Amino acid sequence: MSTSRMIRGESWLQDGSMLLRDVPLVLMYHGIAQVAEDPNKLCVSPRRFAEQMAWLARNGLQGVGMGTLLDAMRAGRHARMVGITFDDGYVNVAEAALPVLQGHGFGATAFIISGRLGGTNEWDEGPAWPLMSADQVRSLAAAGIEIGSHSATHVRLAGASEEQLASEVGASRSALAEVVGAEIRGFAYPCGSMDSRARQAVRDAGYEYACAVETRVADIGLMALPRIYVGEQDGRARMALKRRVYRNYIAWRGKQI
Ligand SMILES: [Zn+2]
Repeated sequence: MSTSRMIRGESWLQDGSMLLRDVPLVLMYHGIAQVAEDPNKLCVSPRRFAEQMAWLARNGLQGVGMGTLLDAMRAGRHARMVGITFDDGYVNVAEAALPVLQGHGFGATAFIISGRLGGTNEWDEGPAWPLMSADQVRSLAAAGIEIGSHSATHVRLAGASEEQLASEVGASRSALAEVVGAEIRGFAYPCGSMDSRARQAVRDAGYEYACAVETRVADIGLMALPRIYVGEQDGRARMALKRRVYRNYIAWRGKQI
């Protein structure tokens, strides 16, 4: 390992072998459904999702959950792995995405909002879609999908108070651990909103990693893993383009995490 790759000022670095630049791609999805109205472009149709997963398989890539991806990074086995993530915990992920993932032998991570189990995405302006209940989250976990936290109520964490960080970050982790009966390893920032205090709160709450969205390059790390948005428009050519864009983005600093 070349010392020039070491990033200074990150005392929380534990494992010198984790090089993010070798990760092919981390994808961010929300719902998998054919919907008439989708102003926030949160849904990918089941047909398109199946095409995107088939594209991964055809390119010799394996879709995995983030915990699996990080374990593979530590072991240097991640070169053909793509992180697949679903934010918010829509019921349609269990209904429409899970069978496609299972058909390819892929894994994924679903980031669940601990205080809205069985509710809807009422924080969004736009159509309301049902969120998984505790039982549905348990079934998803039993099917091999990693469960992560997407906060307690889906608020923006940049600029949040200490009390908010404690309940949204810390308490959501213990609540979800209770639901699935297992440790919760990961967190995804609602709307990708975070700052250094939010990242510290995630670390302090005992999470192993956190997913962001389009992170500032300077913030990229285990507590801000960049993901790329995937939408209904993303056919094969655009998936290939996104793969290149993602790699250029994370390779910019050859970032070690
Ligand atoms: Zn969300």
